[in-house]
Amino acid sequence: MNVLGKQRDFFTRQKTKDVSFRKEALKRLQKEIIAREDDIAEAIYKDFKKPKFETLAAETQFVLAELKLTLKNIDNWASPERKSASLMNWPSSDWIYREPYGAVLIIAPWNYPFQLAFAPMIAAVAAGNTVVVKPSEVTPHTASIISEIISAVFVPEHVTVVEGGVEVSQELLAEKWDYIFFTGSTRVGQIVYESAAKHITPVTLELGGKNPTIVDETASINLAAKRIVWGKFLNAGQTCIATDYILVHREVKDKLVAALKQNITKCYGENIEQSPDFSRTVSKSHYDGLKEMLVGEEILFGGNSNDEDNYLAPTLVNEPNLDCKLMHGEIFGPILPIIAYENEDDIEKHLTNYGKPLATYIFSNRKSFQKKIINRYSFGGGAINDTVIQITNKNLPFGGVGASGIGAYHGKRSFDLFSHQKAIVKKANWLDAPLRYPPYNLPLQIVKKIKHLF
Ligand code: NAD
Repeated sequence: MNVLGKQRDFFTRQKTKDVSFRKEALKRLQKEIIAREDDIAEAIYKDFKKPKFETLAAETQFVLAELKLTLKNIDNWASPERKSASLMNWPSSDWIYREPYGAVLIIAPWNYPFQLAFAPMIAAVAAGNTVVVKPSEVTPHTASIISEIISAVFVPEHVTVVEGGVEVSQELLAEKWDYIFFTGSTRVGQIVYESAAKHITPVTLELGGKNPTIVDETASINLAAKRIVWGKFLNAGQTCIATDYILVHREVKDKLVAALKQNITKCYGENIEQSPDFSRTVSKSHYDGLKEMLVGEEILFGGNSNDEDNYLAPTLVNEPNLDCKLMHGEIFGPILPIIAYENEDDIEKHLTNYGKPLATYIFSNRKSFQKKIINRYSFGGGAINDTVIQITNKNLPFGGVGASGIGAYHGKRSFDLFSHQKAIVKKANWLDAPLRYPPYNLPLQIVKKIKHLF
């Protein structure tokens, strides 16, 4: 029997319906991650020199926080939830039961390879599903430690890892799953969605996008530059919610560029290649693609690279054309185009040129401007006067819209995402109002007022 068959068999035996079974498994996982935290940081460092500080903060501690929250609340989240009953059904008590979908497939990308495999997996297990995790082949050291941790904690018929690249992913997608959670590019998201449609399998698609950061003439420029630099060059720009390009009011452009340069040097020193705090581009092909984007562009800062270890410096690009490679799709690397705007029509022209992004950031001290951008444009989420930080609040949904994805997770939302919500009305027997049964004798004038009973 293949992996999926074994997991289906295990699920059918109802073991995962027991919340204490799920809790025990998650506690074992918590212990294992804590014990292997340094090994995880080492593995990700080997893959693309991600600074250990960033791994602890954005990968392991992030996942441990999700685990802690889940363990604390799982009994409550998994209990039937009483809802107020409608008069129509009176006398009754009305409930939502959360049931696991069954066999879940999680396909993860390479940029936060630990977090993006484990955060959805924890929720899927908490909700009572079996899980197959397919980590990214682009970060092989991390994929193997993910596999080691999962096989140390779970029996494979409950949770397992299938390592491999595109072909393995396609083989998995050809199977009939009960839920697919995919994080990756919009291009592959479309392939996943098509495969899922064949079986009417529900999906979450956590995709990318071209995220604008708008800096208006009232913004606190130095602080804006500091926060943009942090969010953009974290993980060497390989963050799905990082700024993709800056739209800055012409009046403050020079000041912003100077402040960006100053902050890059402050964060990474004069010799950025030697900085222990700056990651590498993950692969040769990704690196080559980024370098190609720079051909013919006016570079304001950076632009230097080293083919030996895919090092590309934080790079500021001045006023690229909208039809150039750099402005065609998501950059996903340490290149930051800076484009001046004169008025709100210019902003509109840029923002509507791409699909709905995963994130948008607004640096402004004008409340009316902040409000206008939030209300007028559709995007996954964002921040005012900062970047990236929306991901750190587990009470906020994390997900895209339109081309940047379907569905959102984190915190309790993740538990709900992997649960089918079953509506149950528990009807009392001591009264059975005759009005709904044929022959229909209720005057139609009264039927027209029935809405008050729903
Ligand atoms: P990717 O789409 O190339 O790969 C993601 C996963 O899909 C990998 O496991 C890979 O093996 C698999 N895959 C690749 N090609 C496939 C195919 N043809 N058929 C089936 N499976 C295939 O993405 P990536 O390069 O690993 O990650 C970068 C992208 O992910 C960026 O676009 C980024 O914005 C996005 N991303 C989104 C989020 C989010 O939360 N929304 C988070 C991280 C990354």
